[in-house]
Amino acid sequence: MRKSLIAGNWKMNKTMGEALDFVEYLRSHPGKEGVETLICAPAPLLYALADATKDLPTTVGAQNMHPQPCGAFTGEVSPALIKDSGATHVILGHSERRQLFGETDAFINKKVTRALSEFIVPILCCGETLEERQEGITMEVVKKQVVSCLMGVAEADVTRVVIAYEPIWAIGTGKTASNADAQEICKAIRTLIADMYSKKAAEKLRILYGGSVNTSTIKGLMAEEDIDGALVGGASLKAESFVGLTDF
Ligand code: PGA
Repeated sequence: MRKSLIAGNWKMNKTMGEALDFVEYLRSHPGKEGVETLICAPAPLLYALADATKDLPTTVGAQNMHPQPCGAFTGEVSPALIKDSGATHVILGHSERRQLFGETDAFINKKVTRALSEFIVPILCCGETLEERQEGITMEVVKKQVVSCLMGVAEADVTRVVIAYEPIWAIGTGKTASNADAQEICKAIRTLIADMYSKKAAEKLRILYGGSVNTSTIKGLMAEEDIDGALVGGASLKAESFVGLTDF
């Protein structure tokens, strides 16, 4: 049985004070039991957030990570520092990183393998543009991203990866994929994992949907068989709404 995961992606939002106020709300409203919750925050907030949430069920993740252990990479954050901060997860290959910062599948693959070797849970994002969907090549695009980004990952490790299917046209636009469309791609990703590894690995690996998920749409998405949770941007910024997302 795969445990449901609601992961907030705060992107480049919130100050330290706002982040700590959010945690105060979680203290009295921890969310529905049995649903895992995670906040992926900007790097300078991670240590304080991990410390503030240490007696709460919510865990903390980063939004990016460099694949090298250390070195001359101005502005980047190392895997060791992410772990030292108390974060347990990292979002990798988000479409904003791919589109705005030129990240390639090959570079994301290096980060995924590094995260696994450091025992940080990678949340590997994939998804198509609107043009690609209209061309009918959604699954081709997603398949290429998943296969390339998981290159060299062994079967024993792949079940620690979380895959987030996020159609780019649905991110921050208010346009959620229909439950059936989201399920179709998440199921296809699971079948792909079964082909690449095994049915057993595919049954264990968690697949999230992301793209304008909110408290009104979460229930329908979570009712789908292959959707194990959500990666949520906008609707994770207000504590009430984030907690509300666990109530599906
Ligand atoms: P959104 O963002 O929920 O605001 O669409 C999702 C994401 O980018 O992970």
